[in-house]
Amino acid sequence: MKIEKVVEKFYDGLAEHKLYGRKCKECGAIEFPPKYACNTCGYHETEWTELSGKGKLHSIILASTLNKDPWNSELKNYSYGLVELEEGVKFNATILGIRRKNAKKLREMLPLPIHPVFYEKEGFTTLFFELDEVEGIE
Ligand SMILES: [Zn+2]
Repeated sequence: MKIEKVVEKFYDGLAEHKLYGRKCKECGAIEFPPKYACNTCGYHETEWTELSGKGKLHSIILASTLNKDPWNSELKNYSYGLVELEEGVKFNATILGIRRKNAKKLREMLPLPIHPVFYEKEGFTTLFFELDEVEGIE
């Protein structure tokens, strides 16, 4: 299988439990998942940068029959949400640890701190996020 270099570096990073993005040499914006060009200012030169993985969850979309991802079928409690890393980049991700039961309460507390979970499956490492401990929520 031939994969683009930028994608390869990203997945190699995940296997080492590291998050790599591309930082724009012109405006400093970060592309994650990484792309070669900057989507913020359009500049063509970006460079690798390691991201902390720490950030905040801004929304909770429960997995339902309509949006269930077959890739996630073995996961018990997951949802989707908008993640913003402390480096300023925003993207949609799969979030662990949110149940139908606690989702309403958690929504009222957004944004909530999250951290990355590196999930090994079939020789690949997939990136998920999980809520940090939230007081009063099981
Ligand atoms: Zn830029």
